Parts: sequence; C-alpha cells; structure tokens
Amino acid sequence: MKTRTRPLLGDWEWQAEAACRGMDSSVFFSPAGERGPARRRREETAREICRSCPVSDPCARFAQASQQYYGTWGGYTETERRAAARVRNRK
Ligand code: SF4
Repeated sequence: MKTRTRPLLGDWEWQAEAACRGMDSSVFFSPAGERGPARRRREETAREICRSCPVSDPCARFAQASQQYYGTWGGYTETERRAAARVRNRK
C-alpha cells in the first residue's frame, strides 16, 4: 500500500535561519483596522528585515505555496502576494 506521508522537516528547516526568528510578529502582521501611513511604515519595517534575511526565497515560496493570506513573507506584503496570485490565475 502506498502512503502519502513524507518527511516534513525539509519544509520548515529554513525557518531556523530566519532573521525574524524570535521577533514580535506584530511587525509582519497588521493589527485590526490598520490603514494608510501606519500600515506602510510597518510593512516597510518588515520588508527591511526580510531584505537582510538569508532565507527570504524559501520563505516567499512557502507563503505562495501554502497560500498565506496575511502578513509579510519573504519581503512581500499580503497585498503584493494577492496581486501576484491574481496575475497567475489569469494565465
Ligand atoms: S523573509 Fe522575512 S518573514 Fe521570511 S523568514 Fe525572513 S525575515 Fe521572516
């Protein structure tokens, strides 16, 4: 009988090197009702951390593959990921 289980560690190993490891997640996820300049400032802070992150590529791929709806992952905000998904879905 074939099994569909597979080792999962490889899916998560990249997180050990994450620049955001141990940081407050509120930098990457917006609080309810956040808008305008406050949102832009928080997202730019998150992007800046992601730019220095050695695992930004696997992080961005993970967010895309698992369809993360919220937060900044791999330097991409949720708005940017949704826009990219719309473009991909049109093809
Ligand atoms: S790319 Fe950004 S969100 Fe992803 S692990 Fe690195 S610091 Fe964290």
